[in-house]
Amino acid sequence: MSILQITFNEDEYWRPEQLQMTGRQFTDTAVIDIDTTEEIHHNSRTTVYRGQTQGTRTPLVLKFAHSFQALEDLRREASLYQTQLSRLQGTVIPICYGFFEAVHDTFPLGCLILEDCGDPPDIIFPFLPMVTRFVCRTVLCHSMTHNQRVRITILRHLQEIHRCGVVHQDLRERNVVLRDGKPRIIDFDRVSPHKGGCTMEIRKLPSVPHNREVDCNDIYCYCYDFQIWGGTSFNGLFFVSVFTGPVDLVDIGRSPYPQEGLPPQEVIDVLIPSKAIYLKDEATQRLLLDRLHEINEELERGVALEAIEFGIVFVLGRPFRPASHYPPQGVVDDLLRGFQLYDLTPQQVESVAHVLREANLACSVTTEKVREKINECLHYLNRYRVLRDKLVFSTSH
Ligand SMILES: [Zn+2]
Repeated sequence: MSILQITFNEDEYWRPEQLQMTGRQFTDTAVIDIDTTEEIHHNSRTTVYRGQTQGTRTPLVLKFAHSFQALEDLRREASLYQTQLSRLQGTVIPICYGFFEAVHDTFPLGCLILEDCGDPPDIIFPFLPMVTRFVCRTVLCHSMTHNQRVRITILRHLQEIHRCGVVHQDLRERNVVLRDGKPRIIDFDRVSPHKGGCTMEIRKLPSVPHNREVDCNDIYCYCYDFQIWGGTSFNGLFFVSVFTGPVDLVDIGRSPYPQEGLPPQEVIDVLIPSKAIYLKDEATQRLLLDRLHEINEELERGVALEAIEFGIVFVLGRPFRPASHYPPQGVVDDLLRGFQLYDLTPQQVESVAHVLREANLACSVTTEKVREKINECLHYLNRYRVLRDKLVFSTSH
């Protein structure tokens, strides 16, 4: 048994500022004194921090369970890392440094310590470069070793996990992390057993194969979702690009998108001057990309940019349309200056957008009144979230 001492960088209701936990270390690496550096995820069941060891400053991720059910799940996840999935540590999944437990105020807490393997992609899976989703065989022969091939692709990682007898059951963008283009799969708290050898070969095909021809329905569905099989022009674009060199990309916010069908970068920069835009889900991406495609068509027909109405307003980085329902973008930005967009939930952004729509209808309303209303709704929602988390937390014991 080892003793782990964690020092937190900020206060939270469910734990003290310093926490001493006991448990078993899974590797020889000394991870005994850890400082957290930032919270990267929080809900009523779990909280995840980035941190580092004192001294060697090894970057780590600390996943805490603070409800009975979450603790059970985390114990099971720790044991998966150590048993069935152990040979995948450091290549397909993060290295697992240990699982520790403590009791605080009569509540049991658990902490799983993992290698820090980066952040989730900020674009959806089919928009990731082909080399990250999967790599086609021909390209590998020329430019990559077998070793790299195993290491760099999400779909093959998923298949490796299947071959250890585990189905992930929750593969979403937020459960894949990337560092230097190398993906690792995380979050094994709702897995199920995998039957069969998972022998299906994952490769580019000109059309979608019949699912009777494959032995794993799960992998089949993900290959489909990742768009590695023929059909769409988007997919074809990347396929060609791995042979002919880099594809033309344009930046929207902080994410690159294939240029095809989109206006040139300088037009996008005029339409969307801020880099702080937030296109986390597919619906918001579609809303913006569809409008940009329309604008590109208008430009190609010879319409001047000045004559085109963008028709989208950004509220805390998220696109909303039609813009005529909202105050002008400059007024919106002015009203929302100082709010951290990543701190807000989609519901909070929606509430702020609602306040802005109402303010736009009642044209006599003052800036101060609108700001007050926005503050009110954000305050209410924050408070509600904390209260609800506490409630769930205490009733689950
Ligand atoms: Zn499988």
